[in-house]
Formats: sequence, C-alpha cells, structure tokens
Amino acid sequence: MKRKVVIIGSGFSSLSAACYLAKMGCKVDVFEKNEAFGGRARQFKEDGFTFDMGPSWYWMPDVFEKFFKDFDKKPEDFYLLKKLNPAYHVYFGKNDFIAIPDSLDKICEVFENEEPGSSKQLKKFISKAKDNYKIAVTDMLYKMPGLSPLELISLDTIKRVGYFFTNIKREVHKNFKNPKLRSILEFPVLFLGAESSNTPAFYNFMNYADFGLGTWQPTNGFHDVVNAMISIGKSLGVNYHNNSTINKILTDKNIATGIQVNGNVINSDIVLSGADYNHTEKLLPKDLRQYSDKYWSNKVLAPSSLLFYLGFDKKINNLAHHNLFFDTSFDLHAKEIYKDPQWPSEPLFYANFTSMTNEHTAPKGCENGFILIPLAPGLEDTEELREKYFNIVLDRIESITEQKIKKNIIYKKSFCVSDFIDEYNSYKGNAYGLANTLLQTSFLRPKLKSKLVENMYFTGQLSVPGPGVPPAIVSGRISFRTYPLD
Ligand SMILES: Cc1cc2nc3c(=O)[nH]c(=O)nc-3n(C[C@H](O)[C@H](O)[C@H](O)COP(=O)(O)OP(=O)(O)OC[C@H]3O[C@@H](n4cnc5c(N)ncnc54)[C@H](O)[C@@H]3O)c2cc1C
Repeated sequence: MKRKVVIIGSGFSSLSAACYLAKMGCKVDVFEKNEAFGGRARQFKEDGFTFDMGPSWYWMPDVFEKFFKDFDKKPEDFYLLKKLNPAYHVYFGKNDFIAIPDSLDKICEVFENEEPGSSKQLKKFISKAKDNYKIAVTDMLYKMPGLSPLELISLDTIKRVGYFFTNIKREVHKNFKNPKLRSILEFPVLFLGAESSNTPAFYNFMNYADFGLGTWQPTNGFHDVVNAMISIGKSLGVNYHNNSTINKILTDKNIATGIQVNGNVINSDIVLSGADYNHTEKLLPKDLRQYSDKYWSNKVLAPSSLLFYLGFDKKINNLAHHNLFFDTSFDLHAKEIYKDPQWPSEPLFYANFTSMTNEHTAPKGCENGFILIPLAPGLEDTEELREKYFNIVLDRIESITEQKIKKNIIYKKSFCVSDFIDEYNSYKGNAYGLANTLLQTSFLRPKLKSKLVENMYFTGQLSVPGPGVPPAIVSGRISFRTYPLD
C-alpha cells in the first residue's frame, strides 16, 4: 500500500518535497492555510497590477534546472526566463548610481572605472567564488541533510578551511578599497539573512551567483515557478488543499499519526512541515518539542521587512527592474537589525518595478512597484510607523532619481511584521527564516527529522540548508533523503 504523507504549507520547500515524495510512490496531500499557494512567494493581482509578494531575485538558475531535470523537465517547459541587463542598479546618492551589467567582463569595466586596478582583483575574487560555488552548491548542498559535522569535511573543504574562519566583510575589504564596490560585493550575503561580518567567507559563492550566473526574470515572476512545481506534483498525483489550517499534529506516544485540518482529523504515515519550524513544533504536545523558547530566542533570525506594493498611473524613469538604495550607512542599518534592534534611523532599501521588464504586470502606461525595507524581527508594527517609512523612502526615490512619483500612486498596500506573523505563522515576523551564520550552518541548524517524534519531518528556510528560494527547493529534496523510505 502507498505510504500516506501530509505536508504542512505550500512554500517552495513543501512544493519540492511533495514532488519528490510522489515520485517515490507516496500518496501526498499538501495543506496550505492561505488561499494562494506558494508561501512567501504568493502573488496577488489588484486593479490590473500583478505583485509577487516576496522573492523577486531569480538567482542560481542551475538549482531550478536540477529540480526540473529530476522530473525529466526543463524550466522552459513551463516558463520563459530573461537575463536582466542591467541586472540591477545601486544608488549611492543623487545622480550617483552604478548599473551592474549582465556579464563579468562588463562588470570588470564598471569596477575599473570606479577603482583603477580593481578588475584584476575582481576576476581573482570571482574565480575563487566560482570554485566555492562548485563545492557548496554543485557538490555539497544536495548531500548535506545536516546530520553530522562530517558532512562538511572533504578534501576540498579542508583546503578551504580558512574561509570558514574569516568573514565576507573582511575578505571584501582586503581586496577592494572603494566603499561603493565594497557594498556591492557585500550585498549578496544579505540573502543569507546575516551581516557580512558574521557570514563565513566561504559564502562568497553568492558573489559568483550574482556576477557569474546573473539575474533572471520569469515572465510572470516567481509565480511561474510555483505553478510549474504544482503542475509536476499534480501529474504525479499530489493533491493541493488551500484555506486549510493545521491546528494540531496528532501523535500516538512518540509517533506522528496525522494532522487536524480546520478541525478535521486526517491520518497519515508521515507528517512533513514546511511551515516555520517554531510554529510547527507548537502544533505538537509540549513534551515532543525539540527546541525550547530559549533556544529560539538565542538564534540569529533573518530580518523581517516592511513591504509596499504600489501601482503608479505612469511609467517611471531613471530606475531599473531591481534597485538597491545604498545611499545611507550600511553598518548603521545592520546594527539596528542585529545588535540593537529598532526601526532604522536611515533605512537602506530595495525597490523593483517588474512591469519595466514584463509590461503585462501593470495596466498600459502604468508601472508596478515593490519596496522592501529590512527590519529587525519582532519590532512594534503600527500604521503610523508604516506611513512614516513610506514617506521616507518615497521622498528618497523622488530626490535621488529626480522625478515626482508619489502623487501618481493609484494602488498601495503594505505588509509588515504583524502580517508575517498572521499570514505565515512566522516566528517574530521573520521574512526569510534563520540566518546562515557560522554557528547556524548545516548540522548546527534545526534538524530535518525530529529527534523526538517518529515519522515527523521538517523542511524550509528555518531548517537545512537555509533561507532563499534555491535552498528551499533543495531543502524539500534533501529532507526526503532522511526518510526511512529512501
Ligand atoms: C519579502 C521577501 C523577499 C524575498 N526575496 C527573495 C529573493 O529575491 N530571492 C530568493 O531566492 N529568496 C527570497 N526570499 C526568501 C524566499 O522567499 C524564502 O526563503 C522561501 O520562499 C521560503 O520557502 P519555505 O518553503 O521555506 O517557506 P514559506 O514560503 O514560508 O512556506 C511556508 C508555508 O506554510 C504555511 N503555513 C504556516 N502555518 C501553517 C499551518 N498551521 N497550516 C497550514 N499552512 C501553514 C504558510 O502560510 C506558508 O505558505 C524572500 C522572502 C521574502 C519574504
């Protein structure tokens, strides 16, 4: 008889695990509390505008390809990808920005203009980052369920042990003098959820993901990927249920026996959760939770965010698809996220306008916009604070790009700490999970398999390997490697 698996949540990790488990012959049901599938990568449409609610940077295309290949498919069987050029703009002040082009040679020219001699350094830096990418992503990521420190030990990692005991910031500062170039090279590790000074230099493989592999955009944003994964799952017999909140994980002594969904009991042989780890354990009886409140409160979480989804009644100038506003102090904002949590005094922020690449995501002649201000998780979240920061960032965009756009806003929605908690059961309102610091890497992260409950498994950005869409997809794949079914 087919083993019955119930999966909590429909984020990328759950969607990935569902496909692999169905391929292994299990009967799989996915239960999502929200109406739309995709977790943090949900999409909504309003007044003719289409908004991706979360991820927008499609990096590491090889990870997506590998997922589809496991099901004898290719991304292009489901969606079209465009390599963005410029990949993104980084703003440092009025009329002062750097456009990052779509190839390493062109990026070298940009670096040379800013800091003579730096292109040679950059080539060396990216070549080492490429080697680390090969070791980390191509070789290790898929073989590391985070069960033992031995997983990290190979001839290649032993040779690079120094990279684990220095950090990205130090490595970048050693090689580059120009503050603008430094902040561009420190930016990719923000995806890992921690400060560059608290992230092992080994993670510079993210710089190769950025400059070597490039920034891509599916025609309908990340929702294309969500739909593609659901379509593969359906072809393998997976059932997807929305508006289905899991209230309880059912156990018999220390064995998971099913879930309670909207009050109804559903029995299963295996329970797998892609919902936030802390929330999932709260669905279990107290004595079957592996990690205490104290454990969680001592962890470095990835930031929360204040987000704005905006519709403009005109086209916007002097901006690119992806834009980073680094015109204030990186260090101060990082301190206000990690060391001394508070609303930022002078926020750095990110903005994208997907209708500049994919016109159909806004009505004709209009533009859609998404703004993200990283915040410390767990901060007080009020309408007044949201509005205050809305005005700060809109004024900054207007002044830096020398145009009036605030009065052209015809659609506006905000999303912040309390929404992350209400809509995703997110611990302290984190936006993208548990940071990848040295002490929160691999076997030091919350485990994919429960140590206390048989047949209970976890996946997703608070477990192994960590935050981001590509790691979430890998998490769904490696979680099943720890299953007794494998
Ligand atoms: C604003 C933002 C921007 C980001 N930008 C990028 C980016 O540009 N590139 C990138 O690679 N990554 C980015 N990320 C990170 C990336 O989106 C996440 O790491 C990834 O999508 C997480 O997937 P997941 O499966 O771990 O969890 P989630 O997507 O959070 O899925 C968990 C699901 O479980 C559901 N759930 C929770 N509790 C229950 C319950 N009791 N019953 C039923 N369902 C439940 C939730 O509703 C949710 O749908 C971003 C994230 C955010 C929030």
